[in-house]
Amino acid sequence: MARLSGKTAIVTGASRGIGKAAAERLAREGAGVCLLDMNEEGLTRCYDELSGHGYSLLKVTADVTNREEVDAAFAEAASHFGTVDILVNNAGIIRDNLFFKMTEDDWDTVLNVHLKGTFYCSQAAQNYMVKQSYGRIINISSTSALGNRGQANYATAKAGIQGFTKTLAIELGRYGITVNAIAPGFIETEMTRATAERIGVAFDDFAISRAAEIPVRRSGKPGDIANAVVFFALEDSSFVNGQVLYVAGGPKT
Ligand code: NAP
Repeated sequence: MARLSGKTAIVTGASRGIGKAAAERLAREGAGVCLLDMNEEGLTRCYDELSGHGYSLLKVTADVTNREEVDAAFAEAASHFGTVDILVNNAGIIRDNLFFKMTEDDWDTVLNVHLKGTFYCSQAAQNYMVKQSYGRIINISSTSALGNRGQANYATAKAGIQGFTKTLAIELGRYGITVNAIAPGFIETEMTRATAERIGVAFDDFAISRAAEIPVRRSGKPGDIANAVVFFALEDSSFVNGQVLYVAGGPKT
């Protein structure tokens, strides 16, 4: 089961959570994987752990909101592996607050990481993908794109990612590049742990209460999203383009 051997993937926000799981699954399928994250310590921990499985990996520290760092990271990955075939735009943050209390900094920070970061990385990736007439761009949106209390900034960014995905799919399809999005529901990661902490609920209780609202009656795990990432990344998925796949244990949360 090495359906991605010979392919190179770049995963942003790869040091933990969904990004780490996606990187691991892509590597397990035979892809060379560039782990990109701004958290150098977390990145090294993740790289050391995954390297133990014998995967072909590269780690690059970069902030997706910094164009120079993004371009340099993609150049390093391309020179190391020879190609850039798959991009997973996963890096993300939350700065939740009710709208009347949301600061301009909360707004700008979230939109910058999710939207500008996705813009910079996709533009860097398409430079390589158009030349090789092949590419897979997979953007991580969220069920919050449909609206979520306390997340005016995040919901806007995640809805924006869906529009961005469909537009790139239209523009880049002719070059053999597909662009799709995954909209996860509640996934157990540091991000949802931070939410539980902010609202003063123990994480286990938080996860149980969220699972009760999900049709499959469980919370999501990073591997649930990694599974969908691999589907979009496969060469065989070439006719799947411009789609948003909700991976949320039901049609919505
Ligand atoms: P996570 O555990 O917080 O991991 C996010 C990673 O992204 C962290 O390693 C973080 O580094 C990195 N990152 C943040 N800003 C960055 C930047 N500017 N440049 C490079 N790396 C950066 O989050 P997660 O839950 O795995 O979420 C991954 C993606 O899924 C995000 O886009 C998130 O919005 C989306 N999502 C998550 C859920 C969920 O329930 N967990 C649901 C829907 C969508 P630091 O440690 O330095 O912050």
